[in-house]
Amino acid sequence: KPVVAIVGRPNVGKSTIFNRIVGERISIVEDVPGVTRDRIYSSGEWLTHDFNIIDTGGIDIGDEPFLEQIRAQAEIAIDEADVIIFMTNGREGVTAADEEVAKILYKSKKPVVLAVNKVDNPEMRSQIYDFYALGFGEPFPISGSHGLGLGDLLDEVAKSFPKFEEDIYGEDVIKFSLIGRPNVGKSSLVNALLGEERVIVSDIEGTTRDAIDSPYKYNGQEYVIIDTAGMRKKGKVYETTEKYSVLRALRAIERSDVVLVVLNGEEGIREQDKKIAGYAHDSGRAVIIVVNKWDAVEKDEKTMKEFEENIRAHFQFLEYAPVVFLSAKTRKRIHTLIPVIDKVSESHSMRVETSVLNDVITDAVAMNPTPTHKGNRLKIFYTTQVAIKPPTFVVFVNDPELLHFSYERFLQNRIRDAFGFEGTPIKIYARQRK
Ligand code: GDP
Repeated sequence: KPVVAIVGRPNVGKSTIFNRIVGERISIVEDVPGVTRDRIYSSGEWLTHDFNIIDTGGIDIGDEPFLEQIRAQAEIAIDEADVIIFMTNGREGVTAADEEVAKILYKSKKPVVLAVNKVDNPEMRSQIYDFYALGFGEPFPISGSHGLGLGDLLDEVAKSFPKFEEDIYGEDVIKFSLIGRPNVGKSSLVNALLGEERVIVSDIEGTTRDAIDSPYKYNGQEYVIIDTAGMRKKGKVYETTEKYSVLRALRAIERSDVVLVVLNGEEGIREQDKKIAGYAHDSGRAVIIVVNKWDAVEKDEKTMKEFEENIRAHFQFLEYAPVVFLSAKTRKRIHTLIPVIDKVSESHSMRVETSVLNDVITDAVAMNPTPTHKGNRLKIFYTTQVAIKPPTFVVFVNDPELLHFSYERFLQNRIRDAFGFEGTPIKIYARQRK
């Protein structure tokens, strides 16, 4: 999907427009306690166009001075987006800060569409002409609070969308990404996997934008490491901010089948790790937890077990994800990772036979009777797998309300154990039998 970023100095109304464009979507609270979508990255739609959108105003880079903040936000837009919406405020006219943003955007080759916000009524339209002076052509008047002008603006934005070839890789190719806080060793691990000193820049471009994937082959299986270009973007002021890590993670997850959540074994688990792991879980991709820098950990025979218990306690929602300990630096245990990637990828796209599935469910119900509510007992008539990636099941029941979270969990676990769905989330939906 193409990526659109909204930039502009504070208080021009970026977040209002962002929320208008994405609609309800981002207020969804996921079923994982404590994991709510960040209001900086979401998907939007306009006519037949599907795109992702970033509100760079939501990325706070810390105590930097005002101008540094907007500069960093504009650079994020240039690095991450295919099309940039440069937003200004029609009530205040062109300000010095707008000119600063413009200067940074001039340097990029990305298409820029200029929006003049807070043009709430037709009489104000005459004021937008000053904005031609910013040098980005025709200014588009909009009103975030009244929802005016967005259609014309998005028409213009969509004109600049690049042509995407989303599935340039075959069905059998395993696409995976590495996500995690800065400095946990993602780039080092990519290098270790590719067996080179540095990340190889392949000439196969995943998309028309600058995300460069690393395809490689191992034991006859083809893999693509997604979005290593982002990992090379080092040394920018915003690189270490939490929201930027999240943004990068979400973008990488999107194109992957398997997500490696990389932790730093030397430092242990941080709050930010939990958040990033939460996004991996929400995505429905297969997930592996990788504990890197294991060489730097002083250990005895219990250390690994204790570390894993700690992971299980912190990431309860990822109970299905296998944990791999390794060192990107010494390459110790690196070879244990690939078979796990193969395994979880297989689980993620596995289909099971309906008759066997129903036997498993019948046995499960015999073992642990279905819940009742006000004298009504949940009755399961029939179960069927309706999708893969992730494996998704529909159970036909007497009353969907009766399938409580805990019983759903129980069924998930039974299905997981019976068929060996290791490393993938399993979704279950209850439908009333007509
Ligand atoms: P990224 O930001 O997640 O991509 O992290 P990098 O790959 O840039 O690594 C951050 C730092 O950790 C670098 O100084 C690496 O040399 C170091 N590092 C990476 N992997 C390991 C490892 O397995 N063991 C040790 N001891 N250090 C590592």
